[in-house]
Amino acid sequence: MTTIYMDHAATTPVRKEVMEEMLPYFTQYYGNASGIYAIAKESKKALEKAREQVAAGIHAQPAEIYFTAGGSESDNMALRGVAEAMKAKGNHIITTKIEHHAILHTCEYLEKHGYEVTYLDVDADGKVSVEDVAAAIRPETILISVMFANNEIGTIEPIAAIGKLAREKGIYFHTDAVQALGHVAIDVEEMQIDLLSMSGHKLGAPKGIGAIYIRKGVKITPLIFGGAQEKRMRAGTENIAGIVGMGKAVELAVSELPETKAKLEKMRDRLINGILTAIPNSKLNGHPVDRLPGNCNISFEFIEGESMLMLLDALGIAASSGSACTSGSLDPSHVLLAIGLPHEKAHGSLRLTLDIDNTEEDIDVVLEKLPPIVQRLREMSPLYMAQK
Ligand SMILES: *Cc1c(COP(=O)(O)O)cnc(C)c1O
Repeated sequence: MTTIYMDHAATTPVRKEVMEEMLPYFTQYYGNASGIYAIAKESKKALEKAREQVAAGIHAQPAEIYFTAGGSESDNMALRGVAEAMKAKGNHIITTKIEHHAILHTCEYLEKHGYEVTYLDVDADGKVSVEDVAAAIRPETILISVMFANNEIGTIEPIAAIGKLAREKGIYFHTDAVQALGHVAIDVEEMQIDLLSMSGHKLGAPKGIGAIYIRKGVKITPLIFGGAQEKRMRAGTENIAGIVGMGKAVELAVSELPETKAKLEKMRDRLINGILTAIPNSKLNGHPVDRLPGNCNISFEFIEGESMLMLLDALGIAASSGSACTSGSLDPSHVLLAIGLPHEKAHGSLRLTLDIDNTEEDIDVVLEKLPPIVQRLREMSPLYMAQK
């Protein structure tokens, strides 16, 4: 059975071009980049080339890019690193209720260690209001962290406006751009971003590699101590193959962005409109226009997302739902609750995330298979049968 993979917000396959670029760094150029002999120099050269590729992708300077082990580490580093380095100035952080858990759980940790965190609400489309950010600022605010685009509902946040506000107030601005990188144009200069988190496996590089942009001059403490790698900001022998993959993946995704965006938006809109038309009592979650090109998130009344995922899986379709089953809990998604969905509707939501390996035929298959699945599940629901 061929798989139709529509869970690219969870992870992506490694691109062929990326893997080819990485391969020599496993067995041929395996040197430790700190060495002074020839094969070590190959590693060092590859490391600096990748740094340039990642920097170019977000309009930063190569010296402002530090490689990490992924988006979670970059998020932890931004928050804990700035909190620690700036504690003489203040102890207040502003974020939102719809951030990834790498941000939210780090904030909870900081709250247990003397910091205060404001979690901003979002509107029904998942947008943060710039006025709310402004109103939350206090003299002791040291950091504003608002994600670039949401991983569940795809809403793109007003990053440039928040960046402008933060810069005017002299407060550091961090954004988790894991979902946005390669799908939305990012310019850290123009958008006045001070710190930005990236992850390789969300854009065709392997899992376990990421990066953080830290604007020159930003005060931050490292998370990992040890060797002198990454200008002492992130100790540990560099994952050269992963780094090479990350550099190549960013370069490819950013150079192809206009075509990818057009292709994905067309498929996404056909998918969304097709589902909303075919299935009554269904509703799109997330912003109708300011949304990630590959994100479709829809709630269906009267059904359980988990059952829908199992039936889709039986047909070879990989998707995800609004109950956070991935984290082993049955709580509905904090993001869907934050946009005002009641528990039952949050549970009955389906997230389909597309990327370059999807085809129009994949959309046809989902549009054919999904409506009968929803109908079948609804016929098993006493609530649905009662209102019919
Ligand atoms: C996936 C994701 C992360 C975590 O990245 P990892 O590389 O898996 O640690 C952080 N933030 C967002 C928005 C994500 O989608």
